[in-house]
Amino acid sequence: MENDIERVLVDEDVILKRLDVMALEIRKDFPGEVLVVVVLLKGALVFAADLLRRVPRMLEMECINVASYHGGTESSGVVSFLDHKLPDVKGRKVLVLDDILDTGRTLKAVVDRLYVEGASVVKTGVLLSKDKPHAENISADYVGFLIGDEFVVGYGLDYQGRYRNLPYVGVLKAEAQ
Ligand code: 5GP
Repeated sequence: MENDIERVLVDEDVILKRLDVMALEIRKDFPGEVLVVVVLLKGALVFAADLLRRVPRMLEMECINVASYHGGTESSGVVSFLDHKLPDVKGRKVLVLDDILDTGRTLKAVVDRLYVEGASVVKTGVLLSKDKPHAENISADYVGFLIGDEFVVGYGLDYQGRYRNLPYVGVLKAEAQ
């Protein structure tokens, strides 16, 4: 698996240090709130597990399944909600966590949907954001790292279901795609 990686972009120590800071920002921004944290599966699973253990506040964690990539390295442009039922967020403050903001379509669709479901406030956090104009006019409230416009794997991010368990974020070799 490691042999398929061309270069490490963000290593494990750097990620974990950054999560300490993000967790403090989240704690500061929601004093006394019992937040509902909505984790977008599967990509944000590793990020959320490490981040949320650093937030010393009462919170509720929910997971939802959305799909925008269908196994390749290009977003399909269509965001599908794969669950029959979404968490009850009526009147609640919500923090949505995703692995990466690329076109912004996924976060935009989820934020819009949570407001339709009655959330009072919806904030967003991503481990990575691609440093480019996003197709949707959206930016995340909490961003771990800005990266270039390239396809990355590891720390929850996959290529065809693989590489999610790499402890760092890296770029795949062309021959592995
Ligand atoms: P967006 O809707 O912002 O274009 O894309 C968000 C979703 O696309 C992410 O949650 C992630 O699943 C996937 N994605 C976008 N860029 C990358 C990337 O560089 N690598 C991987 N593995 N997935 C990506």
